Amino acid sequence: MAEGTEIRRDGILFIVSGPSGAGKSSLADWALSNMEGITLSVSVTTRARRGDERDGVHYHFVGKERFEELRTGSELAEWAEVHGHCYGTPRTPIDAALTDGRDMLLDIDVQGAAQIKRSYPDAVTTFLLPPPLELLVERLSGRGTEEAATVNHRIENACRELSLLPDYDYVIVNDVLEETFASFRSVVRAERGRVERIREPDLERLMRAFGERP
Ligand code: 5GP
Repeated sequence: MAEGTEIRRDGILFIVSGPSGAGKSSLADWALSNMEGITLSVSVTTRARRGDERDGVHYHFVGKERFEELRTGSELAEWAEVHGHCYGTPRTPIDAALTDGRDMLLDIDVQGAAQIKRSYPDAVTTFLLPPPLELLVERLSGRGTEEAATVNHRIENACRELSLLPDYDYVIVNDVLEETFASFRSVVRAERGRVERIREPDLERLMRAFGERP
């Protein structure tokens, strides 16, 4: 972009929630590889590592004591108990991103999303809606990494989470993956273009630059 036409704004927190099996991880992976200027908030969790998950990449895996330390030390921007384990968003990386004008993606549950929205009202929330329940069950079972009881627990949670859909800014039904990605890209692009996000000096400069007649 030509010098002087760069538009600076605060970073945006893009929250994606939705029941497990809805495709949040696929969406997050896609967004990180295909969209410029977006990084992932790496949560802290007390749950055990699954499959090929890597510490510090997918999650920061910690014990209950360490989680408690972080929580009571106000180092988490939000936290919640999900499926019997604790999860939380480290505060420092998201605050740094906001100040630097970088956007962040948060894959967090409905309780966490509500907490972030209270502390960061400009955050953008998207609810990823799973395809019909039968397909969800199939997907969850197909992971092969969970016990039947865990799968049932996750399905019960899915139904509970759905009741909070009205609090979200956007909803995407994850039927065809490519369409889901395209919809999310549209959300990001539209939100990045919101005039109210442009920092005051840049807005004034833009108005002066383009408003003056030759
Ligand atoms: P999973 O154990 O399958 O990786 O994640 C379980 C649920 O926890 C998902 O719905 C995910 O969005 C949510 N989750 C992951 N990290 C966080 C976090 O930092 N805070 C909250 N509130 N939920 C999280």
